[in-house]
Amino acid sequence: MENLERVLQLNIGVAQEDNGRMFDLLSEIFPLDILSIPSGTEYNGWIVPDDWQVKRASISGSMRQFFDGTEHPLAVAQYSDSFHGTVNYRELYEHVFTRPDVPSAYPYHSQWLYRPWESNWGFCVPYNQYTAWPDCDYHIDLETVKTPGHMKIGYSHIEGYYPETIVFAAHTCHACQANDGLAAVFVLLELFKWITQRQRKYSYLLLLGPEHYGTIFYLKQQRDLSIYRGGVFLDMPGSDGPLYLQRSFEQNTAIDDIAEYTMRQVQPDLQIGPYAETFGNDETVWENMAEMPMVAVSRWPYREYHTSADNLDIIIDAKMSETLEALKKMVLLIEKNFRFDSGPTYLSLSNPNYNLYRHHPVPGVVRPLCRSERNMARMQGSLFRWFNSDKTLLDMARRWDIPFTTLHEYIKHFQDKSLLKVKENWL
Ligand SMILES: [Zn+2]
Repeated sequence: MENLERVLQLNIGVAQEDNGRMFDLLSEIFPLDILSIPSGTEYNGWIVPDDWQVKRASISGSMRQFFDGTEHPLAVAQYSDSFHGTVNYRELYEHVFTRPDVPSAYPYHSQWLYRPWESNWGFCVPYNQYTAWPDCDYHIDLETVKTPGHMKIGYSHIEGYYPETIVFAAHTCHACQANDGLAAVFVLLELFKWITQRQRKYSYLLLLGPEHYGTIFYLKQQRDLSIYRGGVFLDMPGSDGPLYLQRSFEQNTAIDDIAEYTMRQVQPDLQIGPYAETFGNDETVWENMAEMPMVAVSRWPYREYHTSADNLDIIIDAKMSETLEALKKMVLLIEKNFRFDSGPTYLSLSNPNYNLYRHHPVPGVVRPLCRSERNMARMQGSLFRWFNSDKTLLDMARRWDIPFTTLHEYIKHFQDKSLLKVKENWL
């Protein structure tokens, strides 16, 4: 939380000077490599914006100042142009953004960062303040400066036994907002500290950068996009709401299954929605540029979204930990899962040479079984179909509603007896 608080004090954005300071701080927690892309760099119409600073931002009239936009980094619309002049109440209305539903907060207006060709001048004013202003002429003294800077992207690609890579991503461009972006960054830094300490089958990429831009310019530099097998875009992990899973474009890929299965372990009544239903973040870049399935995990929606009220007050430690727990479970499952390759066709499991039979309930012979025992017994009726299929152990666990670890232990007996071949690289 302390480190999150320090980053919240910086004036971060897409190509803001403070982004360098932010990545220095993040790298103290987990070492990151940094890509630096100059302002003006263009790719497919995406243009890295300039560094943008507010010098003066005053709204005055009737012999007094109504608003000083230098008091808060969100108080001037991001990437606003300069403007000096006098406007009437009606004209001012066109350039003031408010959030009546969060009336004492500064709204976050970011559209011009992504469409610099549409930029205009604008203020983001708490609704309660704005509605108290009289109908008079206003003098605007708004001086902003756009100068070429660098967009910074922080990443860490940690190698496993296989080059196939799982991606975890979050964005770093929302100034002064805790839950939307930065909280996710801190959860992922913890996740990667944990992953690096573990033996790994797979490789993992942590990618932190400005929304859309960061991923676009990172991917543009990668030669082989086929190594990326699935990803999780994390956002808004710390607010007081349930976890929400947004599926990937294809909806039923391995990463969808993994995310759903593990998130249900921490939140049985998990809410799930289709691709592009609520989010349009970097998962759209991964899906379109790399054709890699990416799910999005969040606690969407929350009231303070895109306002200055998205601050440390709404971040709950237990929610952050719960999110981290869910992501760790995903990694563990990715690492443990495998694909069946080949096995015998039909063994007598109860033969003492194998001793692998799990009882079916038989009236008068076998006592009544509990649900998981019954499910194990049902599963046996198709065991050898699975062994000779191209399905995964997780597919089997889901089909028969048997805990993955229970099934993993059972199937391991077949491997130990050299009765089963599996493909460890299942993604
Ligand atoms: Zn946002």
